[in-house]
Amino acid sequence: MSPAARILIVEDEPAMLTAVRDILDSEGYRVQTAADGAVGLEQALEQKPDLLLLDVMLPHLDGFALCAELRRRAVDMPVLMLTAKGEVQDRVTGLDSGADDYLVKPFSTDELLARVRALLRRSRGRRRIATALRLGETAIDLVRFTARRDSESLRLTAKEYAVLRLLAEQDGQPVTRERFLDLVWGATAFPTTRTVDNHIASLRGKLEPTPEEPRWILTVHGVGYRLDGAECDFAETENSNGGVTE
Ligand code: CA
Repeated sequence: MSPAARILIVEDEPAMLTAVRDILDSEGYRVQTAADGAVGLEQALEQKPDLLLLDVMLPHLDGFALCAELRRRAVDMPVLMLTAKGEVQDRVTGLDSGADDYLVKPFSTDELLARVRALLRRSRGRRRIATALRLGETAIDLVRFTARRDSESLRLTAKEYAVLRLLAEQDGQPVTRERFLDLVWGATAFPTTRTVDNHIASLRGKLEPTPEEPRWILTVHGVGYRLDGAECDFAETENSNGGVTE
């Protein structure tokens, strides 16, 4: 039988922390805790728990920034955000920062356990990573970081490859500028959404036959960008937290 799943709770309110810890303890999960965002990030990186329960308002580093930083470092454990009641915008921001689900406080024991089980179940699956991309005559290798059009080699920056990979992994769905910033630039940099637009313009200049009338990298007005008509190759990777019990 596989060992019990390890869950890290990052929560600064002692009563809430104790309550959640006791619930998870009594279900047999192995629980670790942190009471501020900076310590939480450190523990999440070091201990690689199977699931992170993350409060939003935290000292030193808030839950959104913590989550975005994990995703920027390609740490893909499931994250369940604990948001205050009625903070609808928080939920959107939370999911945008790479959280998998959210729970509005106050929540019931059953609801918490159901979400935890669902996320652990999902994370035992495999993760899909875009490895190559074809846009018409242009072939882009997202693993070796090379790009060619016919015999011509194209020079793309590391950020441009990261932008393409993120677009490729959405299956044609739009990616918001904020999500680009979170996942490509990270919480520690200070770019503006204009930075995203500049990189998209540069990519179109390199990849699009007619950059001012793009065929592949399309603008979704008021939202962001999406990839249209691209052929993508994907690889599946084992999740680091495979094989956990519920
Ligand atoms: Ca808090």
